[in-house]
Amino acid sequence: MTTYEREIYHIIINSVKHLTVEQIYAEMKNKYPQIVLATVYNNVNRLWKAKMIRKISIENMPDRYDRLTRHDHLVCQKCGKLADITFEDLTASLRRQLGEDFFSYDLKVFYLCPDCRKQEKNQDDI
Ligand SMILES: [Zn+2]
Ligand SMILES: [Zn+2]
Repeated sequence: MTTYEREIYHIIINSVKHLTVEQIYAEMKNKYPQIVLATVYNNVNRLWKAKMIRKISIENMPDRYDRLTRHDHLVCQKCGKLADITFEDLTASLRRQLGEDFFSYDLKVFYLCPDCRKQEKNQDDI
């Protein structure tokens, strides 16, 4: 692992904010002012290909990166914010229904986040 890779890896696994490459770049720049976006992008991609981090892709949103620890996501339909959610492990149930093994699963629950819900409520009040 290169210094950059290690540094980026730690930024991603220590964050609960589901960072985009741009946000990782902003953090890296504090410590390495000379770094360019393409370098961060390449390092993130390498970590993802090595299966050390996971990528969360949602239509019309920049990809976000996350730690591997098993968990799923609530996605706000309005602002796109992600929140972690943990279901009981569905592996056994899925395997039973499929009748065979599979690689992984990725669950997304779409909802309205508390902030957006509050905003909608305020609009109703006016
Ligand atoms: Zn929202
Ligand atoms: Zn997450």
